[in-house]
Amino acid sequence: MHEWALAEAVLKTSVKIAKDRGIKKIARVEVVLGQLQDVDAEILSFALENLKKGTLADAAVFEFVGEPAEFKCRNCGHVWKLDDVGLEDAVIKEAVHFLPETVHSFVRCPNCGSPDFEVVKGRGVYIKSIEGG
Ligand SMILES: [Zn+2]
Repeated sequence: MHEWALAEAVLKTSVKIAKDRGIKKIARVEVVLGQLQDVDAEILSFALENLKKGTLADAAVFEFVGEPAEFKCRNCGHVWKLDDVGLEDAVIKEAVHFLPETVHSFVRCPNCGSPDFEVVKGRGVYIKSIEGG
């Protein structure tokens, strides 16, 4: 159910940015959804359609853009994407997608095998752009 809380946050931020920029009517909002963020875009979209009524975003179209997860090894500096993980590891991808916190127990650096890496992309949800007038 965190899609509704997320929708509220997205809407609140969109309206704040619009006000800061002097936009009176938001036409389009581009929202980036990290691959490791377990968000159902359909529920998020539904929540936004309901919550936007009566706000500056009343007529806005919310577009979702997926951001692939990217990791950086702390041991050798190698950078790789979750999508680089081979097809034979589809089960792992699935597990990581639904339980992002398990990423460190499933994923290893493909270069040196170290489990010590940081998530550089694909975590979190943010607003990429807002259009309106
Ligand atoms: Zn490494």
